[in-house]
Amino acid sequence: TIGTDLARTIARFGDREALVDVASGRRWTYTELGRAVDEVALGLLAKGVGKGDRVGIWAPNCAEWVLVQYATARIGAILVNVNPAYRVHELAYVLRQAGITLLVSATHHRTSDYRGMIEQVRAESPALREVVYLDDPTWDELLAAGATVPPARLTEYEQTLAADDPVNIQYTSGTTGFPKGATLSHRNILNNGYWVGETVAYTEHDRVCLPVPFYHCFGMVMGNLAGTSHGACLVIPGPAFDAAATLRAVQDERCTSLYGVPTMFIAELNHPDFATYDLTTLRTGIMAGSPCPEEVMKRVVSEMHMAEVSICYGMTETSPVSTQTRREDDLAHRTTTVGRVLPHIEVKVVDPVSGATVPRGTPGELCTRGYSVMLGYWQEPERTAEVIDTDRWMHTGDLAVMNDDSYVRIVGRIKDMIIRGGENVYPREIEEFLYSHPKIADVQVVGVPDDKYGEEIAACVILRDPENPLTRDELDHYCRSHLAHFKIPRYLHIVDTFPMTVSGKVRKVELRERLAGEVG
Ligand code: ATP
Ligand code: MG
Repeated sequence: TIGTDLARTIARFGDREALVDVASGRRWTYTELGRAVDEVALGLLAKGVGKGDRVGIWAPNCAEWVLVQYATARIGAILVNVNPAYRVHELAYVLRQAGITLLVSATHHRTSDYRGMIEQVRAESPALREVVYLDDPTWDELLAAGATVPPARLTEYEQTLAADDPVNIQYTSGTTGFPKGATLSHRNILNNGYWVGETVAYTEHDRVCLPVPFYHCFGMVMGNLAGTSHGACLVIPGPAFDAAATLRAVQDERCTSLYGVPTMFIAELNHPDFATYDLTTLRTGIMAGSPCPEEVMKRVVSEMHMAEVSICYGMTETSPVSTQTRREDDLAHRTTTVGRVLPHIEVKVVDPVSGATVPRGTPGELCTRGYSVMLGYWQEPERTAEVIDTDRWMHTGDLAVMNDDSYVRIVGRIKDMIIRGGENVYPREIEEFLYSHPKIADVQVVGVPDDKYGEEIAACVILRDPENPLTRDELDHYCRSHLAHFKIPRYLHIVDTFPMTVSGKVRKVELRERLAGEVG
């Protein structure tokens, strides 16, 4: 279990630094971290939380987030990660759907009044018995209550836990629909964190800078669990992403590893003070969530010194990582593929209709199997059965190609694939080409209903300079020599923004619905 794994790290690396919260300047060694986790675990027991109970956490990144993560695991409670960008509607849904009995939150952060929102939904959340705020006296009360519980209770608890017990409910990003609560076990996420850390060769000498959110598996599994299972030190640069704070934390804390989605790296590289930071301690890091443009990858390697930076592909439902690039992979593999499958996981690419495995080099639906596949969606057996088949294969809904050397390339999502006159068209391919147009700052390609072809291709473009418009003829001309005729967008829409999920992914579904209404 996660608790016994942390105990092993404490036994091996007790005196080494485990956690640094840059915003507050506090630091913990592994021995101190173990004690702090136990204090919180005893506090939760004192509050009546037991095995299988759902404890919600709705707070920006901070050291206490990490303490609560390990404390809930230690007593077999199920931590429910609640996205700090959620508002009352989503909060009420998650509280009810997961049956959260105790919620840990912050009273407020920047413009978010968490306490106010919690008060608004309390009446409609009958399961919720208690709210503990990390930044008010209720947190100290929790710890004080724990001091009255005999520590031996933790050992007793540990003996009742099994690796396949659920330890975490993580809601998916909601890119393609309403978020689903993936239920994950100790075995699921501890092993995944361990293998992600192993792939980037973490040791007790590594210091990992984590500007990525803990409510998402990127922070809590690929960051926290990957780090602690190898004795590395976790560095929290701040409550939410800030490019300058991240660069400063890397420099001041002499970090060896830095995480981010591509847009975070872009923000860091483009920061006006970028050149003034000493980033020479970096050697690796993880980039995930969406594909990274080659130009950005080159600069990350050369200007940020992250020669071994790794690309991960995965999804919440698979704990999350299934494929990852390795230290020896060259630049081309890190920009065009998501690496190869991790140890102890299987992947196959199938025809989405027949389910038959397709030959290498042919696109199809990526399926994964192994220890990493979630237990299921929390209390939604029908939706679970839609994605995990009777042989335990997880159908990812992602379209991928596996090449002869077993590198996997993600080409899009099944739901986004456009079928125009019987031809399969992958929006990402067209988007990648259109990015190169000097007038285009950002672009999304979606299918819209069409009487003749079934679907037609629409390009939604955000202009670099709104004073310098792009016409459909220009676009057409630009595409003619580079794209097959059936891939050329029929419609061009100039827009100011795209509909986004709270975690920053474009919601193509919504974009498509909007356009279908317009084009009709
Ligand atoms: P929902 O399932 O609610 O619609 P979501 O799929 O965006 O939302 P997540 O589990 O956070 O929720 O994201 C997983 C998805 O992100 C994958 O299925 C894949 O489409 C995409 N993805 C993850 N890593 C990469 C990557 N390295 N390159 C390209 N796409 C990626
Ligand atoms: Mg998904």
